[in-house]
Amino acid sequence: MRIVFLGPPGAGKGTQAARIVERYGIPQLSTGEMLRAAVAAGTPVGLEAKDVMASGGLVSDDIVVRIVADRIEEADAKKGFILDGFPRTVAQAEALDRMLAGKGLKLDSVIELKVDEGALVKRMENRVAETIARGEPVRKDDNPEAFRIRLENYREQTAPVSGYYASKGVLKTTDGMRPIDEVTQQVFAILDAAKA
Ligand code: AMP
Repeated sequence: MRIVFLGPPGAGKGTQAARIVERYGIPQLSTGEMLRAAVAAGTPVGLEAKDVMASGGLVSDDIVVRIVADRIEEADAKKGFILDGFPRTVAQAEALDRMLAGKGLKLDSVIELKVDEGALVKRMENRVAETIARGEPVRKDDNPEAFRIRLENYREQTAPVSGYYASKGVLKTTDGMRPIDEVTQQVFAILDAAKA
């Protein structure tokens, strides 16, 4: 199964994606995670992405599309994958379609988590507190100013991606404000139906 997860920062994409990995046995491909690893490793991509990411901006389509194209060639992604944090622009969505079509593949499901914007800042603050409590380093872009920019980018660049998939008839939305386990049940129901 090939799945795309859409939703603003703090919507719970990462949490739900981890559960999908467990149930369906497909890898979670998070461009944010891949970019953070590149930054930590100091690769050329990491060096290029570092400052943009820290400020909450979007890394160029070019870089991100290349990373995803390489990653879906890996053995574990042959049976499917869940994309988390990609595509974030309509240009990325179009590039993904071309990438998959070139391999005779297509997406099985696009799921959007709908969340009230007012709740997102609180969720980010909770994530920071939990990360600190675990003794782990806090993400550089989990601060009020970078988060504001991330939300703005979401509204301007990523929200249109939902429209792109809706026009293709593959978009399913679910209420991300409900308790985590209920959201998971909704997501599983959508995916089971897509699989059947
Ligand atoms: P995330 O972990 O998905 O919140 O992503 C963290 C940061 O990585 C974003 O704020 C962007 O700077 C960068 N990033 C991740 N995915 C993408 C993408 N698909 N396009 C552009 N930038 C991205």
